[in-house]
Amino acid sequence: METIVRVGQGYDIHRLETGRKLILGGIIIPWDKGLVGHSDADAVVHAVIDALLGAAGLGDIGGHFPDTDPAYKDIPGKELMETTLEKVRGAGFTPVNADLTIIAEQPKLQPYKEAMQENLARMMNLETKAVNIKAKTNEGLGEIGSGNAIACQAIVSLGMCRR
Ligand code: MG
Repeated sequence: METIVRVGQGYDIHRLETGRKLILGGIIIPWDKGLVGHSDADAVVHAVIDALLGAAGLGDIGGHFPDTDPAYKDIPGKELMETTLEKVRGAGFTPVNADLTIIAEQPKLQPYKEAMQENLARMMNLETKAVNIKAKTNEGLGEIGSGNAIACQAIVSLGMCRR
């Protein structure tokens, strides 16, 4: 039996504005601003989705869930993730681990990292320790540093067993 391992990377950024809920990694984080986008703008889940699609050789999030399609208006990242995982598993792959870097000046994300890890692990059917989250600031530089945006980078590995 042969084991095939594939790695994919993903990146996402969304603008922060007042009057929106801040949702990261599927968790609601209390803050006076939230991320703006066609969907729920969960940059963490979107970066993981792109990494999953990349590792499976299935293209990108925009190709599967176009932001011009009203079906995806305000759609929770969790639902996009479920559809993505069906496609990834349909291609014969299963998630092995994910490693993420969230870049946000504010709010401080340390208190929410564990809940995000648990939530993402549950979605991908992984142990919590197979999902690692690092939270960084942008050292006050650029739009992220000014608190106008939050970005996330993700790497995911997938495995496939072939007889
Ligand atoms: Mg996005």
